[in-house]
Amino acid sequence: MTAKITLHKGDITTDAVDAIVNAANNSLLGGGGVDGAIHRAAGPELLAECRTLGGCETGDAKITKGYRLPAAHVIHTVGPVYRDGTHGEPELLASAYRRSVEVASANGCARMAFPAISAGVYGYPLDEVAKIALTTVDAALADHPEVVEARFWLFNDQVLGAFERALAGLGRHAHSASYQPG
Ligand code: ADP
Repeated sequence: MTAKITLHKGDITTDAVDAIVNAANNSLLGGGGVDGAIHRAAGPELLAECRTLGGCETGDAKITKGYRLPAAHVIHTVGPVYRDGTHGEPELLASAYRRSVEVASANGCARMAFPAISAGVYGYPLDEVAKIALTTVDAALADHPEVVEARFWLFNDQVLGAFERALAGLGRHAHSASYQPG
């Protein structure tokens, strides 16, 4: 393992990493949940830059500046809306995580932070999100050694618990990643 994965409980907008990842929608023009929190914290300049991007395909990612956020950049990715798991959801969710790491790497972001993409309004089962998120990001970090740290910000005990269980279930990964409260 070439990089460090850590779990944190709380609000991703507080993190001063090089890039926080936004669980956005295809329009990139703002929404609820973590998307709304990021836009509120970043200020109106973020929406203005997002308007220039022409939206984002599900499973892809695009980068902007962080404006009033402590993070320098926001990587906007779009996870799938969960239907029943047979409509390409696992591949699209993995792609959202992988593309976010690729965009971070291409833009010189050494430290990045993720929310639980698709685990809110998009309805993806939490335990599956946690497994896909951790395995995909671990593999992507190995392919992109210039990204040295990925933090997962889990918003409440239920989401944090799912990621802790997934981490414990990943065998060798559980020994190379850690949970840091707060
Ligand atoms: P999606 O539409 O991709 O499901 P949501 O924003 O509805 O995205 O939810 C994704 C996850 O982000 C959920 O677990 C939600 O609890 C969490 N969340 C909401 N606000 C924040 C925040 N400020 N920081 C970190 N996670 C958050």
